This record gives sequence, C-alpha cells and structure tokens, in this order.
Amino acid sequence: MWLGFAAGASAVAVIGWLLRREQMARERLREVSLRLAELKTQRHLELVEEQSKQQALLDSMVEGVLLLDPQGRVQHMNPALVRLFGLPGESRGKAVAEALPVSGLDDLARRTVQQGRLTEQELTLDGEPVRTLQVNAVALRDPDRLLAGTLFVFHDLTQHKRLAEQRREFVANVSHELRTPLSLIKGYTETLLGGAKDDPATAMRFLQIIDKHADRLTFLIEDLLTISRLESGQVIMNLQPTGLYEVVVQVVEDLRAKAAERGTELRNEVPQQMRIHGDGDRLQQVISNLVDNAIKYGRPGGRVVVGARALHEDIVEAWVADDGVGIPAEARDRIFERFYRVDKGRSREQGGTGLGLSIVKHIVQAHGGEVRVESELGRGTCFYFTLPRVNEAAG
Ligand code: ADP
Repeated sequence: MWLGFAAGASAVAVIGWLLRREQMARERLREVSLRLAELKTQRHLELVEEQSKQQALLDSMVEGVLLLDPQGRVQHMNPALVRLFGLPGESRGKAVAEALPVSGLDDLARRTVQQGRLTEQELTLDGEPVRTLQVNAVALRDPDRLLAGTLFVFHDLTQHKRLAEQRREFVANVSHELRTPLSLIKGYTETLLGGAKDDPATAMRFLQIIDKHADRLTFLIEDLLTISRLESGQVIMNLQPTGLYEVVVQVVEDLRAKAAERGTELRNEVPQQMRIHGDGDRLQQVISNLVDNAIKYGRPGGRVVVGARALHEDIVEAWVADDGVGIPAEARDRIFERFYRVDKGRSREQGGTGLGLSIVKHIVQAHGGEVRVESELGRGTCFYFTLPRVNEAAG
C-alpha cells in the first residue's frame, strides 16, 4: 500500500515535471517566434528604407538610368531618362526597342550582355536639336553567374559638345584675325627691307600701313581680353548712380576727331538730369562702341544722335541712331555674335575687330539690361539698350 502510494506520487511528480517542461518549451517557442517576427519586421523596414533611399537617389540623378530584366524588358527607368528621351511616362514591362525607339540601343543591350560592360558609347537622338548621349552599361549577374539584368546610364553631352565646338570656332577665328594683320605687317616690312625704304614716299606709305595694322592687333587683343574677362565673370560691375549725359559728353569728346574725318555730326540728346545705376567706365565703352560703329557705318556727312528716355520708373532706354547703310534683316540677330560682320572688308578697312557689339551686349546684360537693334537698309540704324534708372522722385 505504502509502496503503491509512493509509486503513484512519483508518477504525478514526473507528469508534473513533464508538463512544466512542455509549458517552458512552448513559452520558449513563443519567445523565439516573437523574436523572429520582430527581426523579420525590422529587416523588412530596413529593406523598405534602403529601397526608398535608392529610389530617391535614382530620382534625383541628372543622368538617365534604365534597368532591363534578363529578357530585355524595361524593369525601371528614372525620371531623368523619361525627360531625356521625351517619353510619355514609365513603360515598365515593355521590350526596350518598343519603350525607347532609338536606333542602336538594342544592339548596345546585346553587346553589354556579351561583353559584360560597355563604356563611353555614343548614341544620337534625332530631333531639334539633334542630341548626343554618352552611354555606360553593365550586365548584372546573380551569385550563380546567371544574368539578372542590364543597367544603362545615359549622360547628355549635347551642351558639352556645343561648347567645345564654339571654343574650336573661337580659336580658329582668333587665329585668323591675328594672322591677317601680322602677315600684312610682315609683307610690308620685307618689302621695305628689300629696297622700298630707299624711296621716302613709298617708305612713308608702307610705314603708315604697318602702323595701322599694328593698331588693329592692339585693338583686337584689348577686345579679346575684355570679352574673356566679361565671359568668365571676372569683371565686377561697380554700379553707382551715374549721370548718363556726362558719359555721352565724354564719348563725343573722344570721338570728335574721328567723326570730323567723315564729316559726321555728333549730337548728345540725353536729358541732362537723367541718372542711372551703372559702371561709368563700362557704360562709356558701350556708348563708345555704338557711336564708333555709327560713325564707321553711317553716311559720310551724316548725323549720329545719342538719346535716352525714362521707359518706366525704374528703367531708362537709351539709343544711338545713325543715317547710314543699315543692316540687312537676316543679319540683325547675328551682329551681336563674336566676329560676325555684315561686310567683312568694310569692317576691317575701318579697323573693326568684330567684337564691339558682343562687348556691348555683355556689359548691358551685366547691368540687368537688354540691347536690340532696329534698322532700315539704306536709311539708318538705331541701337536701343535699357539700364536701371535712378528714380529721384522715389529716392
Ligand atoms: P566691327 O568691329 O566689325 O564693327 P561690331 O561687333 O561692332 O564689329 O559690329 C558687327 C557688325 O555689325 C559690323 O561689322 C557691321 O557689319 C554691323 N554694324 C554694327 N553697327 C552698325 C551700324 N551702326 N550700321 C550698320 N552696320 C552696323
């Protein structure tokens, strides 16, 4: 009996122990699953955060990014790519040739898969203007070396190419402009050395020609330096309340002799009290270039008038008008370009550098103004430019 009771008690104890163990195991399992769920959620959140960071990065890139799946269908394109190709929107799931109808892209995709990576390839996009894109591409592989996709990065080179072309053109123009007076100086010097110096009249004539071309070289180099400083933003405009009338008085004074040579009458019709916010020296250069042109291309015995009026309470419009040859309609937009001349022979004969109006435009724009031209062939030309006005009433 006692034995039976003892056996029964130990069986109960064992069962109790077993039950406790099972409960502990259940609790442990619950804990582990909870921890697992927690870890999973955290990882998921991390992944979501990582993905949204990557998305933000892709969205903010200036380069176009295109991701194709292993079958060559669009998996992702960033907004820059959509803009670059002028697409109606994202075209996820479409074959690349359908989504981006650009000749050569299909071929690039194929070669990228074959070679693993392509760098600095160029693609041309038809349209107005034609654009040049640089493409870098890489084939993406999973840990088993199976193709996981192809990634393309497109960089718009159009602006870069245009600037490089402009620079090349500028250097060619400058070299040409420098060579012309230099070869004339060399030619006349050699003729003098070869015996022409023995005839005083010829020697004098040749020396005057040499002197004129040396002057041209000096003007050209001065204008080139001015243009280069203006374009690189090195010139700081010292804007101060300035009397426009006084600036014109100075220009008229400086160019009086030149005007007299052509019998040109110079008139300063700027209201005496008119004041503008400007850099006096630079404005003198603007008005001097315009009046100099008006004398050069004006009618011999003609008249050049400088005037100004308040266009608005904060803006003055000034002008330089002549009654000369005029500028053909098709040239009016181009005369502000560096080295553009309507009549090359005439400009050079008059000592022009082809840079005067370009300098005018830069300086006026640096004052926050604009310059424009009106002209009638055979009747005359008027250059207008605006400047910030000192509004005495408001001041
Ligand atoms: P340039 O040194 O040749 O005068 P500019 O840049 O000052 O260079 O002018 C560019 C061209 O614009 C000139 O070569 C000329 O053909 C034309 N031009 C400028 N001003 C006048 C004007 N007042 N009348 C007619 N043509 C002008």
